[in-house]
Amino acid sequence: MSNVSATILAGPSDLNAKPFASAAVHPFQTDDARLQRIHTKVMAGERLNTQDGLDLFGTGDILAVGWMANYVRERMNGNICYFNVNRHINPTNVCVAACRLCAFGRKKDTPGAYTMALEEAWETAASGYSEAVTEFHIVGGLHPDLSLEYYLDLVRGLKERFPQVHLKAFTMVELSFLAKRAKLSTRETILKLKEAGVDSCPGGGAEIFSDRVRHIICDHKIDGGEWLEIAREVHQAGMRSNATMLYGHVENDEDRVDHMMRLRALQDETGGFQTFIPLAFHPDNTPLQHLPKTSGLLDIKTIAVGRLLLDNFQHVKAYWQMLTPKIAQIALRFGADDLDGTVIEEKIYHDAGATTPQGMARTELERLIREAGREPVERDTLYQRVSRNAASFTVNV
Ligand code: SF4
Repeated sequence: MSNVSATILAGPSDLNAKPFASAAVHPFQTDDARLQRIHTKVMAGERLNTQDGLDLFGTGDILAVGWMANYVRERMNGNICYFNVNRHINPTNVCVAACRLCAFGRKKDTPGAYTMALEEAWETAASGYSEAVTEFHIVGGLHPDLSLEYYLDLVRGLKERFPQVHLKAFTMVELSFLAKRAKLSTRETILKLKEAGVDSCPGGGAEIFSDRVRHIICDHKIDGGEWLEIAREVHQAGMRSNATMLYGHVENDEDRVDHMMRLRALQDETGGFQTFIPLAFHPDNTPLQHLPKTSGLLDIKTIAVGRLLLDNFQHVKAYWQMLTPKIAQIALRFGADDLDGTVIEEKIYHDAGATTPQGMARTELERLIREAGREPVERDTLYQRVSRNAASFTVNV
């Protein structure tokens, strides 16, 4: 194991986030009457509605949208920008589904298909364990032959070898599939995985909840209602999760706003979501590769609208691997307060043509954050502060 110390400090309620008064320095300005109305609500702390969301997407005044998102971001998270040191483990890319959005999944026994033996998965985890990793992010394809026992053993083995590392594992789509294969309810499956060592769940597979869009991009997957129901069960089991939204394909403004509203409604009920993560669609190597890549403007606007509509989500992430570090850096002024991690060997978005480096050093990530005028704070998965000491190596969780 490496010799870097990582000490978990205070939780999110004790961040020492300095009030950051960008709003006083740059007064709000717009000629768009719709945004003036929304601005009044934002300043009063009033909840925005569906029409507000559509107006935010519909306006051309990106700076005014950004002003409001930045205001809310600073009200909720001060000047802090979070990141974490994590490692992605994708145990298999073999998948029975054939989502048109996907460049990662392969049919069994086709070129490029792989499945890690348990030892191999544990070795993969160990080989990237050089920088006091605080999280393993584990997702993969829906393998027709891997049993729930394989995943339970995978998790147990990781916990045994890396007891201090948080295991954020398995999307709602995988949980549904594993439950069906094991002939268990999703609730039972979640509890078994939790008992084996899963600490929280990632937010993938949500895509866009609209049935119309799902039929086009991922009709082999559970529907939006099922995704939300399983997320509810994860929260009821006492685990936190994230929520993603894949945008920039065949969805429209209504679909994006509807997706956010459905997430917000569940969050009102459970409070179990930590972070909203808009994911820019990468069409390369997918059946949808005729579609253009997302524009920087849509990337920035989607983050900003997410920050404004999802008033009950504490965090909005600009996932630099998909957005590029440059756009992610700008997003820190448009509502985002998290850049994700110094990810090593991420496969899913790189198979879809992401050209970003697979990992970024912590010092480089911190530099990007500071250059944007934000204060970098390393967090663990649950947004507790981590402090490091290069001389020793203890992880106090
Ligand atoms: S998106 Fe997920 S479920 Fe769909 S084909 Fe790819 S790996 Fe399989």
